[in-house]
Amino acid sequence: MVINIGENIAKIREDMASAAKRSGRALSEIKLMGVTKYHPVEMMTAAAPLLDLIGENKVQEAAGKRSAWPAEAESCPWHMIGHLQRNKIRRALESFDLIESVDSLETAVGLNRVLSEGEPRSFPVFIEVNMSREAAKSGIAPEETERLLDDMMKSCPLIAVNGLMTVAEDTEDERVLRETFSGLRELREKLRRAAGLPLPELSMGMSGDYMIAVEEGSTIVRVGSAIFGPRNYG
Ligand SMILES: *Cc1c(COP(=O)(O)O)cnc(C)c1O
Repeated sequence: MVINIGENIAKIREDMASAAKRSGRALSEIKLMGVTKYHPVEMMTAAAPLLDLIGENKVQEAAGKRSAWPAEAESCPWHMIGHLQRNKIRRALESFDLIESVDSLETAVGLNRVLSEGEPRSFPVFIEVNMSREAAKSGIAPEETERLLDDMMKSCPLIAVNGLMTVAEDTEDERVLRETFSGLRELREKLRRAAGLPLPELSMGMSGDYMIAVEEGSTIVRVGSAIFGPRNYG
């Protein structure tokens, strides 16, 4: 299979533009993340100038790729989108510009502790919400999110919560997907009022459902296979 990264990204950008137009949104507020797990650095450096963000799931893989990144190649901010293990917190803070997958107070406190060492610095995160309530999935339950945000604001002063992230169910049922995405948007409105935070970012939508996500208010679509082709897990 021949993968033309440039053509794929151009098509996704067109789709994003029509979805934004359909829903009366400004295209400028919607970012395209290239999800690059299992894809080599050479493919990534070709795509990076055409992307707004790079997304990786694993700390180890991202750290390796960042150190292999050629000095002359352009990059864009790197977001962590996979589950963060407690023993990888320090490395994650070194390898990523933002962590989208915070889903427990324990992880947040661990992040805050490392951030407070030496010269304290603030770090942006999103809270990952398990909207579809699948047992195998990361993310906090929607009804527990307000409590987590409140606890984080009280005990993690070095963490800036800038938005919410969700992974929708693996389904082609448009009604289910729409419900998931509008549910995250409504949860954001509720948290905005409760916490008094702007929470500008809604990270939702992947290769199969990014247009629906944009129509429902996504500000970051995370697209892997529709840009880079199938992942080789071998
Ligand atoms: C892998 C992954 C994606 C990209 O999935 P595609 O279907 O290949 O677009 C997006 N978000 C998360 C959290 C992922 O793990």
